[in-house]
Amino acid sequence: MFVFIESDSHYGAIETLVADLRHHGATVRTFAPQTGPLLFIDDDTASVRDLVDTSGLDCFIYDTDQLPLVGRGRTDAAAKVRIGDTVVGGDEIVVFAGPCSVDTEELTVEVASAVADLGASGLRGGAFKPRTSPYAFEGLGVEGLKILAKARDASGLPVVTEALDAAGAKAVGDHADAIQIGARTSQAFSLLHAAGEQGKPVVLKRGFGCTVDETLHAAEHAMAHGAAGVVFVERGIRTFEQSARFTLDLSGALRLKQLSRFPVLIDPSHAAGDVSLIEPLSRAAVAAGLDGLMVEVHADPKQALSDKHQALTIDGFGHLMNALRPVAEAVGRTVRKPPAKNANVSSHAA
Ligand code: PEP
Ligand code: MN
Repeated sequence: MFVFIESDSHYGAIETLVADLRHHGATVRTFAPQTGPLLFIDDDTASVRDLVDTSGLDCFIYDTDQLPLVGRGRTDAAAKVRIGDTVVGGDEIVVFAGPCSVDTEELTVEVASAVADLGASGLRGGAFKPRTSPYAFEGLGVEGLKILAKARDASGLPVVTEALDAAGAKAVGDHADAIQIGARTSQAFSLLHAAGEQGKPVVLKRGFGCTVDETLHAAEHAMAHGAAGVVFVERGIRTFEQSARFTLDLSGALRLKQLSRFPVLIDPSHAAGDVSLIEPLSRAAVAAGLDGLMVEVHADPKQALSDKHQALTIDGFGHLMNALRPVAEAVGRTVRKPPAKNANVSSHAA
């Protein structure tokens, strides 16, 4: 069983309970997520429950098959996750937009400023790129992280970018507002732990071969190691269907939302692999009650160093944002308006 202890509990009382449990013969593992201490006790007998009950600690017990940090439990309320100044899971339909991979400073700053002017809530862009071929462009690494930081300064948008390994998680944690875990590494547990240890939110792509349950457990790994919340991204799973790059699993995304306390976005770019499907998939996701999008946008998609066929132009992004507004309103949500100082750039959105 799990014992979740309210964070204002007296540390000495927790130490005493752990010592008593171990003395009793139970195996106890302790975790320190941001929300409060968590004990995993490999024993669920009445005598163990009694020790917990009489400890005087303000705590909540979960069964072993529950997800104490990611599932709904102590409170049925959905959690909001703050990435920079952007609140994910609130009334706003959030949109993290930007290039697949960070290329030049000029193009990255251009796209960041343009999507901010059109109502984006965050900047995405890969500095460490997982590529099928070892000969493909694998990203600019730390140089790319520095470019993203400059694009954040220029646009005011918080930055989400992928870490591929534990060392990368530290570098991303030092530069970005949230650490993205990609579909290919969504069950790389040492990476999830390292990402959690940075203490920032984790943006977790669902692996294209992972079930909803596996995805929830991957999020639990990041949370147990200190993440400041998780934002799930359904980015398409692999099915027999070949007419799109992957198959957007809308029902899987909705299940993630039902079963977890955290917000869920979709990534129509990777799901479709084709710009023509981005807008209808996005409208469907917003209408269904999901929390927003992560979408690829490039100042000049022809020049993109990866995923050029699924990147919107800046004008295309403006069109998408305008298309989302009435759908969001219909389900009681909002899409961010362009900042007032740039209200005259709405020509992008023609
Ligand atoms: C990405 O968002 O840059 C990416 C590589 O996506 P995924 O991990 O979903 O393939
Ligand atoms: Mn991509």
